[in-house]
Amino acid sequence: CLDDGERPLITLLEYFEGKREIDELVRTYFLAEDENGQPYVHLNQNTELHDIPQSDVGAPIYDGLPLTEYLSLCEMLNPMHRIWSDGRWNKLTIAHGCYWRKCSFCDVSLDYIDRFDTAGADILVDRIETLIAETGQTGFHFVDEALPPKALFAFAKRLIERNVVISWWGNIRFERTFSPARCQLLADSGCIAVSGGLEVASDRLLKLMKKGVSVERVAQVTKAFSDAGILVHAYLMYGFPTQTEQETVDALEMVRQLMQQGCFQSAYWHRFVATAHSPIGMNPEEFGITLDPRPEVFFAENDVDFTDPTGTDHDMLGEGLRKALYNYMHGIGFDQPMSFWFDQPVTRTTMKKDMISKAISHFILSQEE
Ligand code: SF4
Repeated sequence: CLDDGERPLITLLEYFEGKREIDELVRTYFLAEDENGQPYVHLNQNTELHDIPQSDVGAPIYDGLPLTEYLSLCEMLNPMHRIWSDGRWNKLTIAHGCYWRKCSFCDVSLDYIDRFDTAGADILVDRIETLIAETGQTGFHFVDEALPPKALFAFAKRLIERNVVISWWGNIRFERTFSPARCQLLADSGCIAVSGGLEVASDRLLKLMKKGVSVERVAQVTKAFSDAGILVHAYLMYGFPTQTEQETVDALEMVRQLMQQGCFQSAYWHRFVATAHSPIGMNPEEFGITLDPRPEVFFAENDVDFTDPTGTDHDMLGEGLRKALYNYMHGIGFDQPMSFWFDQPVTRTTMKKDMISKAISHFILSQEE
């Protein structure tokens, strides 16, 4: 069964009880026979039966799971990766899907991103109280793709009004609405960390990927979160279609300045991957790449190989990006030139050395006016 389990599993149980026909299964694979009696795996996509609305899904039930016996793992020194795996969090979502659903590298055509649906703030706080009563734990990880700001602010206010004391964290988009005052509201409601996409850290590519943010905006928003005492993790990306060596080196310079200015404390470089259900995977020509032929598609094989005529050596650059970031996260190496981090000579950065500090000071001034 794919994506949300509630409707597919209920329908499967109903099928086993003889209440449904096999062609009523929802997002479910089963072994079928073709007209020659040969077995094949068939995916049934029944669109008549709707998924359970967010207001009705209820709180997760951990009954029967030995919660105290799971291992806590600390596999990397990266601060946000440590929050992910070292210790246990109750998991919830504020909404289903993503309210933005435009990023060209994201699987926006799939139900788990595309179907946006929220529950009210009071329903969420009720679920939180239920989970605290069941598990005795007050740490919450919101596993939304991107927490919707309006619902998030309403939720934070209700937590404070109802005097429910928790620690929570989740993914956001670094967008304008997160002003210093609103970041402080989130901190007051128990927010301890946020993660979000700065991705390629290049305005040309951020526009191409329809991320809806600029590097300057990310600098201002991440600084507001950090100043409110909230740990910030940035998802970084390299190897995006048509990305040049110059843009990659400039992106590293942006990251250097952002970390030196205390905008975020944790980050990770991900190599871009084209996926079958993303706008890039569906319309590669719009992004200047060609997809390699796929002889056979297996279950859940979502990544697609592609050719980018730009010809940038992303393998070589990726090593340098990781090395530099690792040092920056330890607060060292900020004075090294970009060329220091790479095994081969690279182009010099074209970014101004005070670009991020200026963006932050303009923002602070505009808030004070
Ligand atoms: S990358 Fe994140 S913000 Fe962009 S569409 Fe996907 S889930 Fe939404």
